Amino acid sequence: MNTDKVNLLGLDRQGLEAFFTAMGEKAFRASQVMKWIHQFGVEDFEQMTNMSKALRQRLGESAEIRAPEVVLDRGSSDGTHKWVLRLDGGNHIETVFIPDGERGTLCVSSQVGCALECSFCSTGQQGFNRNLSSAEIVGQLRAAYQYFGARHRDERIVTNVVLMGMGEPLLNFDNVVAAMNIMTDDDAYGLSKRRVTLSTSGVVPAMDRLIEASDVSLAVSLHAPNDELRNELVPLNNKYPIDELMAACKRYAFAGSGKRKITFEYVMLDGVNDTPGHARQLVKILEGVPAKVNLIPFNPFPQTDYTRSSQEAITRFWEILMAAGITTVTRRTRGDDIDAACGQLVGKVMDKTKRQARRIEMQEGRA
Ligand code: SAH
Ligand code: SF4
Repeated sequence: MNTDKVNLLGLDRQGLEAFFTAMGEKAFRASQVMKWIHQFGVEDFEQMTNMSKALRQRLGESAEIRAPEVVLDRGSSDGTHKWVLRLDGGNHIETVFIPDGERGTLCVSSQVGCALECSFCSTGQQGFNRNLSSAEIVGQLRAAYQYFGARHRDERIVTNVVLMGMGEPLLNFDNVVAAMNIMTDDDAYGLSKRRVTLSTSGVVPAMDRLIEASDVSLAVSLHAPNDELRNELVPLNNKYPIDELMAACKRYAFAGSGKRKITFEYVMLDGVNDTPGHARQLVKILEGVPAKVNLIPFNPFPQTDYTRSSQEAITRFWEILMAAGITTVTRRTRGDDIDAACGQLVGKVMDKTKRQARRIEMQEGRA
């Protein structure tokens, strides 16, 4: 349902302050409303008891608090949890929670589909549908908080957010920045900026804009150590080739106070980008960049010719990077039984096909 009302769920502090000032109200109302919406999970202005009845009524007339609806949630035996959210207009997105010791990471989507067509990515193969609003992005974190409820308040279950679900976050810049501002605001979710990570396939001008707009952690999807191969895997490389990308990474890493390490994601594709020669090339292009590397075993999906690198190839690759002094981790695959690998929110429920919508209805017991 689309209304003309402003959805306060997606406004960050600056947006809320502007909203209240335009109403002739004091800016501090922003803090009050943020706490109600994000910390107490309130959706009805009538419950906001530290505001006058008259103000609550005016808010009800011009604004709303509207989150995407959770239509399915499912846990996996390894603690992974997945939610399917229904958006306005009938699209669906997935959000996944991945616990790992003290850390609990929520993998969030920024778009329905993606326009960038990386050859190994099922989201890219499905094309672009639309940007998510800031309310829809932050609504994914809200859904997890509401699910964990009191347990989260006692144990802080969700400690990290990664924008590694569907979509290219830097191509939905303003909404993503507003959502990340809300995630890190102490009156909302209060996540540490270091623990919110934006993953990009390398939209160079937007990486520079991000330096000014935010200071979250950055992950860059590199996947290949030379332009010829990267052009093939990440077609955006034709526009922003590796030397420009690395220069932008350095600017990001050295901006502000101190240096910030950039995480480079590298999907391990059998026989494509996983040889010792590729590892040595990678070491070379990372020279001078404060870097960590995350080797991601490829997650196969139907209609792909790629396969996952062998464990031996991954270990060999890892050893070469480590020997060169580059911190390198291999991502474990998780949540296999619920189809919930992060970076692989394949939009199996994207209702571009009626069949998928029907599947959800069946799972909800409505069909
Ligand atoms: N568009 C952004 C963020 C979403 S993709 C980006 O590309 O960085 C999140 C991560 O998942 C990226 O590193 C992406 O390359 C990776 N990924 C995509 N498809 C994958 C697959 N089939 N197997 C493993 N990782 C994949
Ligand atoms: Fe888009 Fe990222 Fe998938 Fe590439 S890897 S198609 S940028 S979601």
